[in-house]
Amino acid sequence: MPMQNMQISANSGGTQRGIGGEAFLIGGITMAAILLLVGTGANWLSGFWGIVDYVGQSRGATASTLILNIALILFGWRRFSELSHRAEISSKGEAEARQMAMTDPLTGFYNRAAFQTLGKQALVDWRAAGLTPAALMVDIDAFKSVNDLFGHDQGDKVIRITAERILSCIPASAIPARVGGDEFIILLPIGAETHPIDDYGQILASVLSYAIDIDQSSISTSSSVGGALAASDDDLATLLRHADNAMYQAKRTGRCRFVRFCSNMNAALQQRDVIERELRIALERGDIYPVYEAMIDLTTEATLGYEMLARWNNDALGQIAPADFIPVAEETGLIARLSEQLMRRSFAEARDWPEGLSLAVNISPLQLRDPWFAQKLLKLLAETGFPAQRLIVEITESAIVDNIALAKAIFESLRNQGIRIALDDFGTGYNSVANLRSLPFDTIKLDREFVTSMDNDADRTAIAQAVLKLGQAMGLPVVAEGIESNLTATMLANFDCAVGQGHYYSKELRNEDVLAAHRPGATQRRSA
Ligand code: GH3
Ligand code: MG
Repeated sequence: MPMQNMQISANSGGTQRGIGGEAFLIGGITMAAILLLVGTGANWLSGFWGIVDYVGQSRGATASTLILNIALILFGWRRFSELSHRAEISSKGEAEARQMAMTDPLTGFYNRAAFQTLGKQALVDWRAAGLTPAALMVDIDAFKSVNDLFGHDQGDKVIRITAERILSCIPASAIPARVGGDEFIILLPIGAETHPIDDYGQILASVLSYAIDIDQSSISTSSSVGGALAASDDDLATLLRHADNAMYQAKRTGRCRFVRFCSNMNAALQQRDVIERELRIALERGDIYPVYEAMIDLTTEATLGYEMLARWNNDALGQIAPADFIPVAEETGLIARLSEQLMRRSFAEARDWPEGLSLAVNISPLQLRDPWFAQKLLKLLAETGFPAQRLIVEITESAIVDNIALAKAIFESLRNQGIRIALDDFGTGYNSVANLRSLPFDTIKLDREFVTSMDNDADRTAIAQAVLKLGQAMGLPVVAEGIESNLTATMLANFDCAVGQGHYYSKELRNEDVLAAHRPGATQRRSA
């Protein structure tokens, strides 16, 4: 392990100095006793052989001195070795304490403080040796759900095994640190003799994507990895910020991958920061509002209900698309609050719609990681008086893949109350059919990608037709999203698609327009 090869500078403490002083004194006494013994012993011996008749006081005194000397030597020697031993333990203890102060106890990697000191020095040393400093930032994907599903202890093991795997992929000269719960930084030198940074990053992302077997469980895991090379005038903070930006880009573009920093990421991040700041204000003021897109019975063209969509008109930034602000809400943990605000408002509005109309709401994958999500949703229904039987919860595949057991438990709680569950964006994930078989869905939503271009794309039409057949075989109605033309609507009806939605039928409506469209005597018209 690189850490163990590193010299941690020794700096003896006060305890050791104290022990050293006492040992010196005891050593001195012992030495004096030895010299005295030699002198007294010589006298005694000569007296013993030369003056045999000389018995009495002086002989007794010499013997006492001799015994006292021997006792002094023995005492001194024992005390000296005791003190030497204590000094040894104390110096070892201090080295251990210093080591502990520098390391993360769970992984043995450097902690943030030690990393800062060593990292700054490494930048100087590597540059002097003609090498380019580089940083890799690693963050475990969806780690919270590992803790939720398997418990904190197993989570700790995942962190430890991730650290071991990181260590197996980096050069001995690298400086690895654990800088957050599931976040690691590796500082390493890149030069003509080393691999390029991309190689290390890609290998790390790949090695960290293998499931971890702990006890009887196989825990699927992956990590997002960002990498950056230091420009000649970059300090450590800049290098780390760049690696961090790249790591966030890896998260945003699907996780479980390596992304290398490039300069336009800074602009994108600045924009994201502006959105985050404005989003917090918008949440305080309740600026983000619901609109409704009609869901149509394709045979009778009657409106069956509406899907709620979020809209945000910002004073400074204009209309901000959900694709731009929902990911920011997810990253910042604001999604639950945003979703609660929108659901509360739309439940209260939809409560006054004609009774037969359903309301579909989209749920973020992050909300499905909350074991209390079902209870929170039911509480919201009770508070707003919107009947559970009229609610459809739409969930994308990525939400389920993250945590299938928890999703299943949540679905069961919701369905027990009469809420229907729709599998959203069907066909865009890798595991659609397997998910359909393992979870109790009421509806499949065929992704707009396969619908919008049906009138001119034979491949997509074939996929749409296959999904519709699958729905029929499983007894699940299919809702086609993104119908924009009469031809698409007719084709879908011919394929026995039951329900559809899209601009061909209706633009997104504010609540007052929904109410107006369903007033007695009002004709429901398609938008132009
Ligand atoms: P993302 O893919 O966006 O990174 O999602 P995530 O769930 O991994 O979220 P994030 O990285 O923000 O969360 C890290 C979690 O790690 C938060 C905290 O509950 C957990 N955690 C922090 N320290 C420890 C620890 O020492 N042991 C364990 N088991 N969990 C920890
Ligand atoms: Mg994480």
